[in-house]
Amino acid sequence: MTALQSPLFRLVRFLLFLLLLGAGSSSAHLVKKGDTLYSIARANGVSVQRLMAVNGIKDPSRLQVGKRLTIPSASSSASTKKVGVKVAQSPSRASKALTIIIDPGHGGRDRGAVWGGVRESDLNLKVAHKLNWYLKRAGYRTVMTRTSDRYVSLSTRAAIANRYRNALFVSIHFNATRETWVRGGETFYASSGRGSYLASSIQRYLVSKCSVRNRGARFRGFSVLRNTHCPAVLVECGFISNASERARCKSNSFQDAAAQAILAGIQRYDRRY
Ligand SMILES: [Zn+2]
Repeated sequence: MTALQSPLFRLVRFLLFLLLLGAGSSSAHLVKKGDTLYSIARANGVSVQRLMAVNGIKDPSRLQVGKRLTIPSASSSASTKKVGVKVAQSPSRASKALTIIIDPGHGGRDRGAVWGGVRESDLNLKVAHKLNWYLKRAGYRTVMTRTSDRYVSLSTRAAIANRYRNALFVSIHFNATRETWVRGGETFYASSGRGSYLASSIQRYLVSKCSVRNRGARFRGFSVLRNTHCPAVLVECGFISNASERARCKSNSFQDAAAQAILAGIQRYDRRY
């Protein structure tokens, strides 16, 4: 028997483990495809910082499928502030001058598409809040055209964006059609060059991170895009008129993945321009 296997060592190791958890009870989570630290933290009522600290994770964007995570008890997460763990910055540094205008489509009396009890305006806002969180963590300045369920006109949305000089405008939507078999994600732009590069970057990650059918990055002269001076795109994350896609779009993990996809597209744009 080596010293490492001795009962005393095991006891000490166990006590250290308890200490690390703040003596709280814990459980485990096996990382599945599509999981993010954010979604796991949300589902278990703990903070992302706490989850990272307990599991020794330095880079939250590199979460391996099959990894076994220790989930601290929700109550012990109150000690997060005392631990003082800083959230790791995204590896690619954000351009300090770039402001991202996040535009959750519809809102208030304009609900957008409504199918199976799901309102597009609600989904848009949920993805927008998650995107705002990710962008801020990555070091970007953000502005939201609405932060609650209220009506904002298209001209006001463009006017908000036009207050900022070095900006990107990202309008978030979900799609619907009477042809209920149609599904997939698509990203629109109204200007070639930067706008189309931003659209194709976001579209690329929407397909890879959300596993939606690729309907492409395409030109369309939506007024909210045409009236915005900065590079502007409109992301249709999925079809809520398709029953199976609607079920996915409703889920926290899909909305989280969509936000991460848009973030990744913006970062790709930011590396080029
Ligand atoms: Zn819409």
